[in-house]
Amino acid sequence: MGSKNEKMEAIVSLAKRRGFVYQGSEIYGGMAGMYDFGPYGVELLNNIKKAWWKENVQMREDYFGLDSAMFKDPRVWDASGHTSGFSDPLSECKKCNTRIRVDKELEAIGVTADEKMSDEQLNKLFDENKGKIKCSKCKSSDFTPVHAFNLLVKTNMGNFLGEDEQPVYLPGEACQGIYLNFKNIVDTTRAKIPFGIAQIGKAFRNEISPRNFLFRTREFEQADTQFFVRPNENKEAYEKIKQARWDWYVKMGIKEGNLRWKQHENLVFYASDAWDIEYNYPSYGFDEMEGVHDRTDYDLSQHSKFSGIDLSYRDPSTGDKYIPWILETSAGLGRMFLAFMSDAYEEQELENGEKRTVLKLSYDLAPVKYAIFPLLKNKPELVAKSREVYDLLKERFNCEWDDNGNIGKRYRRQDEIGTPYCVVVDFETLEDGTVTIRDRDTTKQKRIAISDL
Ligand code: ATP
Repeated sequence: MGSKNEKMEAIVSLAKRRGFVYQGSEIYGGMAGMYDFGPYGVELLNNIKKAWWKENVQMREDYFGLDSAMFKDPRVWDASGHTSGFSDPLSECKKCNTRIRVDKELEAIGVTADEKMSDEQLNKLFDENKGKIKCSKCKSSDFTPVHAFNLLVKTNMGNFLGEDEQPVYLPGEACQGIYLNFKNIVDTTRAKIPFGIAQIGKAFRNEISPRNFLFRTREFEQADTQFFVRPNENKEAYEKIKQARWDWYVKMGIKEGNLRWKQHENLVFYASDAWDIEYNYPSYGFDEMEGVHDRTDYDLSQHSKFSGIDLSYRDPSTGDKYIPWILETSAGLGRMFLAFMSDAYEEQELENGEKRTVLKLSYDLAPVKYAIFPLLKNKPELVAKSREVYDLLKERFNCEWDDNGNIGKRYRRQDEIGTPYCVVVDFETLEDGTVTIRDRDTTKQKRIAISDL
């Protein structure tokens, strides 16, 4: 496999062919920016969530889990700044009306730009480089001036609103539910500052040009933590959180050379610092997988102001009262999924000259942990014994049964979906209760007793 583009194509094709990811609404021609996770995809996605939850909630005495409602009072999005400022710079091709996201088009031709620049700044850069940017559909370079396009998705939830009232939005980001429940968690648990709240939730954005498979979609999930600290006690905690997030990706099997940090050049006015963990995606290179943000007291101050409820915290030991500062981590599940899949993907030539595609996912992430094969499917005694082994293992692990084709083909099928262990039941099993277990990465086999599986 030569170029990085070919690798991306191979991953997208494997994802479809083996039931990891399908285009959303495919039988109706497909819906841009929407994807459905198939049988192996949902396992991988759930395993990523479980591993993330384990790291950020189960293993931490100072973090508390949450699952807040997606629909929120519309004033939440005023307080957060989303109704006024959650926008991307849009321009339209004058010939065919295709919409482009200007900051990303500028970046693609090597011009430094981002969505936080003013319309004026972006229009200037856009004018200077217009000839170099071509419409992806009709190749024209004739575009309208840049203007801000709000990304919030409106709904007709509670359709009883009067004309002047705001619509209820789908969440533009998952973390707002954490701020709304800060007081509830302080009042109902033993949480004492410094402490964190973790949540995995859906987010929806009217992305101007969804692209790069799962990287930029219009519906996605975010895994977020918000860590609450005393004012001005942010720096040390921020460094620790950054390190922990990096270490987690490495622990979960991502090659360190495919990760890098990128500091934000244009900070939003309230932020004290912001860094992204970027992954080296096939076909488009390093890009944001997770944001780690030092957000000061902005979020809780805004919600105190807009709701009229005082969200300050009273320190039980000193009696001090203050609005806590927040350190945030926010990672898209789709971007993590794509990174884990890309990092694990290998095409190899084996010693016997055969070729195989293998997903070297870590054991915790692999969709199927054990595949169980009877050596021959026309020998009832082998099938019965294999079923016994399968029934035993499926109680504790996600297992797969496969009796179709020769053993080599069955191994190839499991390699492609990343199954760490294949178990073969043969005639020796009937005599001494041992099976062969084959390791995905080394392809080495050994005999072990069924009781040792
Ligand atoms: P970008 O600059 O790429 O649009 P962002 O800076 O707007 O991303 P955040 O608002 O910080 O992203 O969201 C946190 C995380 O959510 C991102 O790091 C990313 O993993 C994920 N994310 C954001 N937008 C999308 C999207 N359209 N599709 C998939 N994941 C997304």
